[in-house]
Amino acid sequence: MKIVVGKYSGFCAGVNYTYNRAIEELKKGNLYCLGDIIHNEHVISYLKSIGMTTIYDIKDIKDNSRVIFRAHGEPISSYEYAKEHNLDIIDLTCGKVKLIHNKVLKEKEESFIIVIGKKKHPETIGTVGFIINDYYVVENEDDINVAYSEFAKSKKRKIFVISQTTFSSSYFDFLCDAIIRKFNNIEIKIDKSICAATENRQKECETLSKKSSVMLVIGSKNSSNTKELYNIAIDNCKVVYFIEFIDELKNYSFSDNDIIGVVAGASTPLYLIEETKKYLESTCL
Ligand code: SF4
Repeated sequence: MKIVVGKYSGFCAGVNYTYNRAIEELKKGNLYCLGDIIHNEHVISYLKSIGMTTIYDIKDIKDNSRVIFRAHGEPISSYEYAKEHNLDIIDLTCGKVKLIHNKVLKEKEESFIIVIGKKKHPETIGTVGFIINDYYVVENEDDINVAYSEFAKSKKRKIFVISQTTFSSSYFDFLCDAIIRKFNNIEIKIDKSICAATENRQKECETLSKKSSVMLVIGSKNSSNTKELYNIAIDNCKVVYFIEFIDELKNYSFSDNDIIGVVAGASTPLYLIEETKKYLESTCL
């Protein structure tokens, strides 16, 4: 048996920064986090145990409190609300997401904006909260027709396309080709703003899945980038297990001949990957 752990597995730079800053800030006292700080129950429980309260509606935060804006970013309306209610924002929006906010603020003056991403993902909600009018979120091919109608209704005559940072790289390319065909003769500027941390993981997952007899994907089922790794793995490997807790490994058996590829999303803590490896080594080697 061989166990191969993807080198890009675990926290990305943005999540690592968020996590470490949250711990530092919690040393100064209790605080709120608007939404799940990252999509991982282990991390949320730990931070709760040291004083962080996760809250899903900014209006439920008491005036004058400290609040984390997480790496996914927040719409402009959250900043405005925070100012009105004297909230002390600890802004941990990832720099790469901030860059997207700045780009849409610039481009929206002249262009209708297409955001390629998951409609309900907090990063997408944050990004469109900076655009406000004349935009459409494209999540699949059907959305392109709706985006076209919305564009036709607007006064804009150019298109700017941008992406959620954790969207599937190959599906982004596919949707962009379809957009170019649909918006034939219209000036289109495409910014593939998928984060390198996401692209590296997806490429590595594809390569590893092709070489492995079993793939283990570690992370939360509500993590967009981890789900994307799972989708890539099932396209390229016959046996794929998506686990969130180490205990779940007991449900599966492995053979001496297996080559086990292990990958983890950007919100999966390193210790979960190490524990998985230890479990496999202790039970199978
Ligand atoms: S995946 Fe990229 S954009 Fe998202 S938090 Fe991590 S480093 Fe930032």
